[in-house]
Amino acid sequence: MNKTVLITGCCGFIGSHLCDFFLSNNFKVIGIDNLLTGVTQNIEKCLKNPNFLFINHDVCYSIKIKNDIDFILHFASPASPTDYIKYPIKTLQIGSRGTENILNLAINKKATILVASTSEIYGDPLEHPQNEKYYGNVNPVGPRGVYDEAKRYLEAITMAYHRKFKVDSKIVRIFNTYGSNMRINDGRAIPNFIKQAINNENFTVYGDGKQTRSFTYIDDTISGIYKLLMSNYSGPVNIGNPSEYSILELIGIIRGLIPTNSKIIFKELPENDPKVRQPNITLAQSLLNWRPKIELRDGLKKTILHYRKLHKFKL
Ligand code: UDP
Repeated sequence: MNKTVLITGCCGFIGSHLCDFFLSNNFKVIGIDNLLTGVTQNIEKCLKNPNFLFINHDVCYSIKIKNDIDFILHFASPASPTDYIKYPIKTLQIGSRGTENILNLAINKKATILVASTSEIYGDPLEHPQNEKYYGNVNPVGPRGVYDEAKRYLEAITMAYHRKFKVDSKIVRIFNTYGSNMRINDGRAIPNFIKQAINNENFTVYGDGKQTRSFTYIDDTISGIYKLLMSNYSGPVNIGNPSEYSILELIGIIRGLIPTNSKIIFKELPENDPKVRQPNITLAQSLLNWRPKIELRDGLKKTILHYRKLHKFKL
């Protein structure tokens, strides 16, 4: 019998890739999304697959499902700063009530659950690179706090359910991941810069562009998530590519891949924008034998091709 996996946030960037991955590995997939920031375009192919069931539902409300469920992946949440600053209350509710509802479902179904956390829980880190033992430096009352604290709560309640109810749970801390199915207008650095380069618009650099991020191609992120789901480790695990780039370096690479007349303009740095971010992945390497394989340049090439095809070479 095929195992069944339930994916919340199935129409989002990572959720839709998870649906593709599990369907192509012969799982039955139940996808849940309320289309707050996700788009059904991302699951067009899945909808034609008889092993896929889509339920339009907001995880903040409890849900009853008849089917047996073996695995749950909880990925519902706005994730781009533009989105979570637009939906601050909802972001907090999804991380809190939403996560609690999905943990209760895991108990009812005796399912293994993996919840999506983020490098954002490290905030503007005072330790560099960040390993799982670092508690972070988050401003709870800043504009980014709604996402950071929602995800910190998600981790806390997941561990509480694990300790109290023996839920078989896993927590993945995802570092800036990118690739196809990210909305071109979602406001994040990579889609913004690709769109700007193709349209010969100026690159909008926030602050001086010396802040760093470590970008992971989606296929690497998905393989890390799958390995973690199949492990028996319940603490948080960083999944990210340790290659660290400044925002100006990122633009340099994109310029090398897209011929463009775009120039750089500097804009105000958003409040609490982390200055550095780089995962220590020793734990993922030793526990899961996982390490990212795709270099930024190669991942960007695939991403650019995806956007060009999707938008018929016009963005
Ligand atoms: N950024 C930028 N210009 C943009 C979009 C983002 O300079 O048009 C910067 C942003 O300030 C941050 C970095 O790029 O320092 C990564 O931003 P993103 O929104 O992709 O992710 P996050 O801040 O959540 O890591």
